[in-house]
Amino acid sequence: MEVDEVISAIEKMLKSDGKTVLRDLKERGKDPFVVLIGTILSQRTRDERTEDAVKRLFERFKGVEDLAEASPDEVAELIRGVGFYRSKSKSIVEVARIIRDKYKGIVPKDMEELLKLPSVGRKTANCVLVYGHGLNAIPVDTHVHRIANRIGIVSTRTPEETEMKLREKVPERLWIILNDLLVSFGRSICKPIGPKCEVCTIKQECNYYKKVREK
Ligand code: SF4
Repeated sequence: MEVDEVISAIEKMLKSDGKTVLRDLKERGKDPFVVLIGTILSQRTRDERTEDAVKRLFERFKGVEDLAEASPDEVAELIRGVGFYRSKSKSIVEVARIIRDKYKGIVPKDMEELLKLPSVGRKTANCVLVYGHGLNAIPVDTHVHRIANRIGIVSTRTPEETEMKLREKVPERLWIILNDLLVSFGRSICKPIGPKCEVCTIKQECNYYKKVREK
C-alpha cells in the first residue's frame, strides 16, 4: 500500500468517530486567534478541560484587544483545570499583546513568525496554520508520532523528525487532514496502550502488528 492508500483506509475505518477539539473549533468558525489560544491551552491537557477553558475564557474576553488588557490572575482563574494554567495565563496575555502590537491584531500565517510567540512550538504553530488558516501543514502530537512510527511510514525519535519525514512522504493535499485523522484514530483504535489491531484494516501493512502481534 502507498501512504495515501493507508490514509484512505484509516479514513474509512473511522467513519463518524470522535471529533477532535481543534476540528470542532474550526468547524464552529472560530478565528485563528481562538485556535491559537485554544492550542496553547490544549498542551498537556485533556480535550474536555481545554474545551471548558476556551469557552470560559472567550465568554469573558471577546478577542485580541480584550485579552491583551486582561489580568493574568483573572485569566488563571478562568482556565484553572488545564495543565500549567498559571504559566499559560501569563503566556496567553503576552501572546495577545504581541498579536495586537506587532501584528495589528492578526495572527500570522507564517511559521517563523508564529514560532516567535511565547508557548508556541512547531506543533502549536502547525495547528494554527491548519485549523486557523486552512493552510497545508502537519501538526505532530503524540498520536501522530506514535501511529506513523507504528505503521512504519516513518522511523523517528522525536515529533519534529516525524513532521519532517511526513512532509516528504505524505502527498501535500493530505497534510491538512492528517492530524485530525490520526488523533481520532489514536483515540479510538490505535490507542497508546492496547491498540485494537484485531479490528484494524491496515494490520497487514503495519510494522508494529507484524513484529509484536504476530509473534
Ligand atoms: S495494526 Fe494495530 S498498531 Fe498497526 S495501525 Fe492498526 S491498530 Fe495501530
